Amino acid sequence: MTAVRKVAVVGAGVSGLAAAIQLAKAGVEVDVFEAKPELSALGSGISLQGNALRVFDALGAWDDIRAAGYPFEGLNLRAPGPDAPIVAELPDVKTGGPDYPAAMGMPRADLARILLDHAQRAGADVRFGVRVTGLDARAENAVEVFVDDASAGAYDLVIGADGLHSTVRDLIGIDQKPQPTGMGIWRTFVSRPAEVVRSELYYGGPVYIAGYTPTGDDTMYAFLVEKAQDRFGTPDDEATRIMLDESRAYAGPWNAIRADLQKGAHANYTWFTQHIVTAPWNRGRVVIIGDAAHSCPPTIAQGAAQGLEDAFVLTELLVSRDGVDQALWDEFHARRLPRATAVVEASVQLGQWQIDGDRDADAGGLIFGIAQQMAEPA
Ligand SMILES: Cc1cc2nc3c(=O)[nH]c(=O)nc-3n(C[C@H](O)[C@H](O)[C@H](O)COP(=O)(O)OP(=O)(O)OC[C@H]3O[C@@H](n4cnc5c(N)ncnc54)[C@H](O)[C@@H]3O)c2cc1C
Repeated sequence: MTAVRKVAVVGAGVSGLAAAIQLAKAGVEVDVFEAKPELSALGSGISLQGNALRVFDALGAWDDIRAAGYPFEGLNLRAPGPDAPIVAELPDVKTGGPDYPAAMGMPRADLARILLDHAQRAGADVRFGVRVTGLDARAENAVEVFVDDASAGAYDLVIGADGLHSTVRDLIGIDQKPQPTGMGIWRTFVSRPAEVVRSELYYGGPVYIAGYTPTGDDTMYAFLVEKAQDRFGTPDDEATRIMLDESRAYAGPWNAIRADLQKGAHANYTWFTQHIVTAPWNRGRVVIIGDAAHSCPPTIAQGAAQGLEDAFVLTELLVSRDGVDQALWDEFHARRLPRATAVVEASVQLGQWQIDGDRDADAGGLIFGIAQQMAEPA
């Protein structure tokens, strides 16, 4: 017996697909509504910490994800300058426990494809090109979902996993929204020089952080974090020129990254945001998870991991209980709010120390403390 028999999931990102997989595997009828016409084959890479990998294993997707990514341990800090000297080699905490690598990089498109495949194989009906525009919770114990202004039927529960600009969050009257943190990021997807075997970050120089993360035998993503500027809609050739210019202070593997940029590697730009919706994340039988509920700069690369944990904890409760009641919501919030809040606060603090140029801040201590916390099961 599960607490729900028919669930609508809004959004086919990592959070929504993780929820869909676990519910469908338990025999729940799941419809996923995704506004995009199809999965994007483009995009950059993502760094997944051990606690995210542990959730993939619980979903049954770990073998496929491991095969498509690049596992690594540790983090190198480098300095600007002609030799790009390594100034520190930091060990990682295995936040997923000893059975998983400390971290893994992978192309975002591959992660999306694998999760979609698992959701569909588990029996979820994933519909693309359909935007949820309304919810009606007037009926007892049911919520009617409107897609492109037409009814798509009634559900026992609606999970709003619809990202930063969540429609579901608006529809249930939550007005806490993502706010810019003052940092912007350029990202590009390039070939991996053989010497890059883990994430490396460069502090100092013209940008706050320059870095890269391996995502496969031949690939990695590279990024430059700068003061947020109005760069949206920058034409491709101008985007490339900016990444080339801003990265010139960095050598080592950056020489190869620049060569790829000159050959036409695509560069994209976005801002970092932060928010955490205070409890409750549900209104009756509608709940938000993932970036809809919280966002943070990727300074400790925990955003997707937190969305995955939201999905895992929520669906674990839904498949192990008889009904959707206050006790379920209380346990969900007790297990998720403190953890997601700690990640958002630490991630924002790390970025703020960069903005303030605070060289005495104990960044290593903060990162270690959060990693210890994440190593506990969600
Ligand atoms: C620059 C940057 C780098 C990052 N790097 C990392 C990293 O290395 N590691 C990490 O763990 N995290 C990282 N993150 C965070 C991570 O990307 C997010 O936390 C994660 O992708 C959120 O997933 P989600 O499923 O909650 O939301 P999303 O991935 O945003 O998915 C939401 C989906 O909902 C759909 N949607 C929206 N509205 C509707 C609607 N009305 N109807 C139907 N569908 C709708 C959207 O089209 C979208 O597909 C990074 C974030 C940024 C900005």
